[in-house]
Amino acid sequence: MPDNPTPASPDSIAATSAAPRRLPGLRGQISLWIGGLALAILTLVGGYMGKLAADEIYHAQQAAVHATAESAAELLATQLRDREREIELLSVAPYLIDGPLDSVQVRAVLDRRQVLQDEFAWLGVTDADGAVLQATGGMLVGRSVAQRDWFIAARERIYVGDVHEAKLLATMLPALPNGEPTRFIDFAAPIRDAEGRLRGVIGTHAHWRWVTGLVEGVVRRQSPGSGIDALIIDRQGRVLYPEALKLAQAGGASVLPLLPNGRFEGELQFAGKAYLVSEAKLQARTNTALGWRIVARQPLEQAMRPVRELMRELVLLGLLAAAALALAALLLARRISLPVEQLARLAVRVERERIVPDFPERPAARELSRLSQAMQSMAGSLLDTERQLQKTNATLEAQVEQRTAELQAANAALEHLATRDPLTGLHNRRSLDTRLIEAYALDRRYGAGSGRVHGLLLIDVDHFKRINDEFGHPAGDEVLRQLAALLQASVRVNDVAARFGGEEFAVLLPELAGPLEAVMAAEKIRMAVEAAVFPAVGKLTVSIGVSLASLEDLELRPLIARTDAALYEAKRGGRNAVVLKEADAPV
Ligand code: GH3
Ligand code: MG
Ligand code: MG
Repeated sequence: MPDNPTPASPDSIAATSAAPRRLPGLRGQISLWIGGLALAILTLVGGYMGKLAADEIYHAQQAAVHATAESAAELLATQLRDREREIELLSVAPYLIDGPLDSVQVRAVLDRRQVLQDEFAWLGVTDADGAVLQATGGMLVGRSVAQRDWFIAARERIYVGDVHEAKLLATMLPALPNGEPTRFIDFAAPIRDAEGRLRGVIGTHAHWRWVTGLVEGVVRRQSPGSGIDALIIDRQGRVLYPEALKLAQAGGASVLPLLPNGRFEGELQFAGKAYLVSEAKLQARTNTALGWRIVARQPLEQAMRPVRELMRELVLLGLLAAAALALAALLLARRISLPVEQLARLAVRVERERIVPDFPERPAARELSRLSQAMQSMAGSLLDTERQLQKTNATLEAQVEQRTAELQAANAALEHLATRDPLTGLHNRRSLDTRLIEAYALDRRYGAGSGRVHGLLLIDVDHFKRINDEFGHPAGDEVLRQLAALLQASVRVNDVAARFGGEEFAVLLPELAGPLEAVMAAEKIRMAVEAAVFPAVGKLTVSIGVSLASLEDLELRPLIARTDAALYEAKRGGRNAVVLKEADAPV
C-alpha cells in the first residue's frame, strides 16, 4: 500500500460535484417557495380585501348618486313649495282682497316682488274673466289669459303648472343667451273677497332656467368632478332637462333606458353608455301634482375608477410585498446555503489534502455550528485512523522484508550446507551427481547435433597415507584445503569442482569439443599441483583419470566407472599422470 492513500481523482470529484449541480439549489428553492407562498397569500388576502373595498366604494358611489338625486329633489321641492306659498300669501294680501285690482299700489307691490324674486319673469293680476289688470312692467295689461291653463285652474285652487314655452310673453322678454326658447313654470292662486267670492287670479311665470339652475347647482356642489349629472323627467317619462337630451328625444331618439322595474335605479344604459343611476320623486315633497322625478346618473366607468385605482394599488402593493418577501427569502436562503457550501468545500479539502482545515468557528445557526463541529471531529478522527493504519502498515512491511531477508539467508545457508563439502568448500558428491544428471540432459537436448558432450576428471592424491602418517591428520586436512583452492583456480567458471570423497576430487567439464580438451584440462591441473609447494608437507603429485560421457550412457555410473578405471590405470602406470579412457573402450 502506498504512503498516501489514493485521493479521489479529479474525475471522480467532478462526477460527485456535477450531480448536485443538476439539482435546483437550496437558495432558489427557498426563495421560490417563500416568494410563491407570499404571492399566493397576498393574492388571496388582497383579492378578498380588494373585493370588500370595491363593494364598499361601489355602494358609496351609489349612495353619492342617490344623494345627488335626493338633494336636487329636496331643494327643488322646497323652492317650488316656497314659490307656491308666496303666491298663496300674495293672493290673500289685504289690498287684493278689498282694493281695486288695477290700482298703482298693486303694480308697485308686484314690481317689488319681482325684483325680490328674480326667478319670476312675470307677475300679474287678472279679473275673474281673465283680463290682465295689472302686471310687472305693465306687460300684457289689458290682454286676456282666459284660455290659459293657469288661469282656468287657479279660479278654483292654488295651481303649479308644468313647464311650457312662453306664448304671449315670448316676444316681450329678452331671448336666452344659449338660444333656448323661453320656458316657464306657472304658479297661480285665486283672489277672493272677504265673502269668498272670486275677484280674480294672481299668477306668475317663473323661469324654467331657475329650476334647472337649482338642479345644476346641487349637482355642482354635491360632487364636483365626479361626472354626476341630473335629469328632470316628467310624469309621462319625457326629459325636461337637460336640453340636449330633451331635444334628442323630441327628435325621436330613445334617450332613456328601459326600466326593468319602472324605476331609474342601479346600472342602466343611456344611449349605449353604462351609468350608475338613482332617482328621487318630487311627489311626496310638494302638494303639487307635477309628478317630476330627478334622475341622477354617473358614468359607470367613472364610478368604478376609484375601484380600479384601488385594485391597481393593491396589485402593485402585493407585487412589491411579494418581491420584498422573495428578496428576504433569498437572503435567508443565502444565510443557510453559504455555510453548507463552505462545509462541502472543507470536506473536499479534507479528502484532497489529508489535513483538518480550519472550520468556521461561529456559523450563523446552532445546527450549522453542530454540523461544523461534527464534521471537524469526524475529519480529525478519520485522518488519525488513516495515519495509524499507514504506520502499522509500514512496520509490517519492514518486518516482512527483514523476515524475507533472514529466510533467504537461511535458505542460502541450507543450500550451501546441502551442496558443499565442509572441509574444502567445493561441491560435495551429491551436488556433483545433480550436476552430472543436468549435464546428461543438456547433452541429449543440444549435444546430439553439435557432438559436444561433457567430460569427467577423477583426481587422487598420490601416497596421501604417508602424509597423514608423517605430518598428522590435521596437516593432511590442510593439504586437502590447499589442493581444493588450487583446483578451483585451475578450472573454468562453468566447470564444477567437487570433493569426490577422502583425498579424491572430481571435475565436471561441460560441452567438450573432444577428449583432447579434457586431457588438456587434466594435464593443466596435474602440472599446477606438481609445481605447487604445500607449506606443511612440501611437494606432492596427483593422478588423474579422464573420460567423456557417451550419449548411449543411460545413467551416471558408466562414466564414473570409466573415469575410475582411467585413474586406476594412471596409478598403476606410475602415478603423477593423466589417463584417458574412451567411451567404447573396455572398462
Ligand atoms: P596411492 O598412491 O595408492 O593412492 O596411495 P595412498 O596412500 O594415497 O592410498 P589411498 O589413496 O588408498 O589412501 C587413502 C588415504 O587417505 C587413507 C586415509 O588415511 C587418507 N585419508 C582419506 N581421507 C582423509 C581425510 O579426510 N584427511 C586426512 N588427513 N587423510 C585422509
Ligand atoms: Mg585414494
Ligand atoms: Mg591416494
